[in-house]
Amino acid sequence: MVNPLLESWATPHETPPFHLIEINHYKPAIDEAIKIAAEEITRISENPEPPTFENSVAALDNCGEKLGQITAVLFNLNSAETSKELMAETQDLSPVLTRFSNDITLNEKLFSRIKVLFESKDKLGLSSEQEMLLVKKYRSFILGGAGLNGNDRIRFREISEELSKLTLKFEENVLDETNAFELHITENKDLAGLPEDIIETAAAEAGKRSKDGWVFTLHFPSYIPFMQYSENRELREKMLKAYSSKAFHNDIRDNRSLVISIVNLRLEMAKMLGFKNYAEMTLGDRMAEEPSKVATFLEELFTASRNAALRDHMNIADFASENGHDGKIERWDWAYFSEKLKKARYHIDDEILKPYFSLDNVREAIFGLTSRLFGLEFKVSDDIPVYHTEVSTWEVYNEEGSLTALLYLDLHPRKGKSGGAWMTSFREQKIRDDRRIIPLISIVSNFARPSGTKPSLLTFNELITFLHEFGHSLHGMLSQCTYESLSGTNVARDFVELPSQFMENWAFEKEWLDSFAVHYKTGEKIPFEMIQKIKDASAFNEGYACNRQLGFAFLDMAWHTITEPFDGEVNDFEESALSRTELFPWSETLNMSCSFTHLFGGGYAAGYYGYKWAEVLDADAFQFFRESGIFNREVADSYRKNILEAGGSDKPMNLYMKFRGKEPSIDAFLKRSGLK
Ligand SMILES: [Zn+2]
Repeated sequence: MVNPLLESWATPHETPPFHLIEINHYKPAIDEAIKIAAEEITRISENPEPPTFENSVAALDNCGEKLGQITAVLFNLNSAETSKELMAETQDLSPVLTRFSNDITLNEKLFSRIKVLFESKDKLGLSSEQEMLLVKKYRSFILGGAGLNGNDRIRFREISEELSKLTLKFEENVLDETNAFELHITENKDLAGLPEDIIETAAAEAGKRSKDGWVFTLHFPSYIPFMQYSENRELREKMLKAYSSKAFHNDIRDNRSLVISIVNLRLEMAKMLGFKNYAEMTLGDRMAEEPSKVATFLEELFTASRNAALRDHMNIADFASENGHDGKIERWDWAYFSEKLKKARYHIDDEILKPYFSLDNVREAIFGLTSRLFGLEFKVSDDIPVYHTEVSTWEVYNEEGSLTALLYLDLHPRKGKSGGAWMTSFREQKIRDDRRIIPLISIVSNFARPSGTKPSLLTFNELITFLHEFGHSLHGMLSQCTYESLSGTNVARDFVELPSQFMENWAFEKEWLDSFAVHYKTGEKIPFEMIQKIKDASAFNEGYACNRQLGFAFLDMAWHTITEPFDGEVNDFEESALSRTELFPWSETLNMSCSFTHLFGGGYAAGYYGYKWAEVLDADAFQFFRESGIFNREVADSYRKNILEAGGSDKPMNLYMKFRGKEPSIDAFLKRSGLK
């Protein structure tokens, strides 16, 4: 049987032949591709020649090319165009792939070649890009436990397996707790204040549960609007308390013991690998580099934003009492009065703005923006295979007219597509045999599709989302790196959001909005006052929001900088970590850690600070553009060369300094957010 996944791809630009791929092709193709990759690995590890950068590090980076192509198709389609069968297939294949990558990490001969090179790296005459690759490869072996022997190695495996079980269980408990709660409303009066569409959804939810009336849940699309709009204070209190005490009820789903086990196992693992604590281990390849730098950063931001947080708190309290609220503002009042004050001050909402942001217009405007900044040109192509008729493909040319990348746009919701928006790739850029392999980049989103009478219209937030993902895609498309593991978005976690968040800034620039935002019916330009209001509203409550994010980051760092196993009370620990940022009275019955999936489920442990870190970077970078004129080509060229093309070819701080001429400061961020 011919398997198109294994053939060489005779399509334009060697893109995946989606029209030929069927679900039953994946397993045999992956088995075969793993076999090929394993042979390549053996050739490196058994090489009788002494290790060199080329025959070991670079060779390792080139291994498994076919495997990478096939898994990119599999995983990308499983997110953008999946089915029950494809999900099952992906689940079956995941352990096979994990096993193969573990086999590489624990290949002792291979590791010893990389280790020899790492230990003499200063004498090898490597370029900074080569050194980055060597360090990255060495680090992934070390963090995979390759440097351990005997019992340590066995214990390390145990900890890894235990941690993946516990973090999964942690998430499961949170999800079960989220699903276990419902607020069932049966009387019309208890719906006061809620928007029509939210009420409809709640009625449908009740219907699904064979109940009369309306059901609200702790899932975001239900919880958030309820807290913002419900006039019933008691019900808001009930909802908030349920939300903020998930997995903290002294029952079978209580996550306290899991929090303790997870932080202690992480600490044990870090110590085995020679680090003081888990944060030190994690931050080793980040822009922030070490826990003390994160601490300094958070401290600086805390000091600078504290007054703004108190001011925001007072504003809401004053507004509430002017509007008949009696007594203190409690947690369950915050979103409600914030929303009311925001509306009273800025009078903007999505429905007024949407007609100015038709999708085709926005896409052309973003293309145009990158053409002005970076000289790019986008040509639609109709002979490239796609996985769904709604996907469009674009050839991206640089100023010299050579093909730089291929861009897939898959923008509307479908059954079988995950929610939200993301950038991904079917192939990453690299240099092979002196030839630049062009990257195949994709943006997937869920923007409303056009109807018979209306084009697809974006909300202002969706405009920002599009810009954000486009920023990631530029990082992927413009990449000029030699090695795949360093190209495009393969950069430090706390650096990767710079190109994406940088692009968001344009949504607030009059000059750019003016150039394209016209009413799709009347052709009238977006009124200037409206742009001004958008801008003003963007800084609304930023002091409070910043303070809250800092609280989470303090809590994260507190848990992950312990140097001795923890055996105290989770709630006491949390109280002391959060005490400085707390603006509401402390409550014994509420707890954040027990449902903080970023830290104890997903991969943000010792990384939560990264959200604010990236905002500081993007504000500082954009400030540079602002100082020299936002369309200044010299600045844009430097940004392109040092950030967008450079991927992970050098340390992020070095790259940033080359672009900016100095280290980032928090000033631009403070100014943009109205914090000073
Ligand atoms: Zn992003």
